[in-house]
Amino acid sequence: MHLPTLIVITLILNALLGLLMVVIYDLSKRKPCFLYWALSCLVFSLGIALASARVSIDLPVVTYGLANLMLLSAPILAILGIRDFIGADVPLRMTRSRSLSLFLLASLLLGASYPDKAVFSAVTSLLMAGCFAVGALWIRQLPVRNTVPRLLLLTLYIAHAVVMLMLAGLSFGSAPEASSGNRSWVYELVLASHILLTTGTAMLFPLLVYVATEQRLKRLANQDELTELFNRRAYFNISDNLFSESVRVGTDFSVLMVDLDYFKQVNDQWGHAVGDQCLQLAAKTVQAQLREQDILARLGGEEFAVTLPGIDATEAEDIAQRLCRCLALKPLMINGQAIQITASVGGVQRREDHTNVQDMLLQADHALYSAKSKGRNKVIFHHPVQPSGPEQGAPA
Ligand code: GH3
Ligand code: MG
Ligand code: MG
Repeated sequence: MHLPTLIVITLILNALLGLLMVVIYDLSKRKPCFLYWALSCLVFSLGIALASARVSIDLPVVTYGLANLMLLSAPILAILGIRDFIGADVPLRMTRSRSLSLFLLASLLLGASYPDKAVFSAVTSLLMAGCFAVGALWIRQLPVRNTVPRLLLLTLYIAHAVVMLMLAGLSFGSAPEASSGNRSWVYELVLASHILLTTGTAMLFPLLVYVATEQRLKRLANQDELTELFNRRAYFNISDNLFSESVRVGTDFSVLMVDLDYFKQVNDQWGHAVGDQCLQLAAKTVQAQLREQDILARLGGEEFAVTLPGIDATEAEDIAQRLCRCLALKPLMINGQAIQITASVGGVQRREDHTNVQDMLLQADHALYSAKSKGRNKVIFHHPVQPSGPEQGAPA
């Protein structure tokens, strides 16, 4: 490929991506990560521009020293952007990063006056390879799970590191008097891979932020903030699907309503913050007793719902008894004092006349009301077929 054309394409692409990042930075309520990535693209373009001036200008301090400094700054800025995005305490304290920059600047400018430019370029390439390897480690910590953009970005960074290592090897291996045609071929290859890698990388950053934001919003929309359990909305979405599946396949299916006893008194006596801790502990305790396929949600206040697919009333009653026992055995410890929490549970197994989970929860709620009126810390199951009455009680 025509080398000057390649250089111009690289310059324009990176400059455009840099500007795009600046626009996104402005639109995204000034998230610093976009500014770092914008600077990374712009600095890379400048580095390429200065490096390509080597053929026409004999000013090594600028065309080697400054150019390589810019090319090296690009991955460093990209890493700072990733750190900011992850929420890591951004740098590398200011004084440390300033002295590091000064050290790099001085060594690169000094190195530029070293007569063998191949060695100088090789050292810069090695440093860049190291930067991309560190970047790859940071990408692994990005808060986006199982996504193609993250995998692509990781691949690109590892590829960047490998290309820079190869370039370092080539630079070390090439004699200073090597023909300019040979060098131009290597330079062309490196530039082509740079275009692919840097533009690909720069395009993936906004995509990753988008995916992370989507995942976070989805989690917020489905999660109860205090207990991190499913919220009411997610509970009905998931449970209704499980309900339909159990109707289709004809399997057992039960739900439980769990309500903490005298919880108002806990708040009154210990304060709302301690009440919140009790709710968190109760959520954890109940969750620990359930299987992976069971659905536990906080429907509101101190009320929880449990969906038990494949479970009939007898097993569900056992599970509910176990939940009551575990809750009663796990008080919250505050300043050496135990805050005892108990719960009452109402349950029901799916029958032909239930049309959805809401139906079942209504009956579970009636059973829960009975458990409350019979003294609390109890499990009552809704058994409509009993001739002596709709409900049977069992002490926890
Ligand atoms: P019962 O045994 O009949 O269920 O009595 P209770 O006191 O648990 O029931 P009640 O409905 O009278 O009170 C529920 C209390 O739960 C009232 C409210 O202060 C408390 N509550 C609801 N949501 C929260 C919350 O998010 N955090 C805290 N700390 N308390 C909450
Ligand atoms: Mg209550
Ligand atoms: Mg309640």
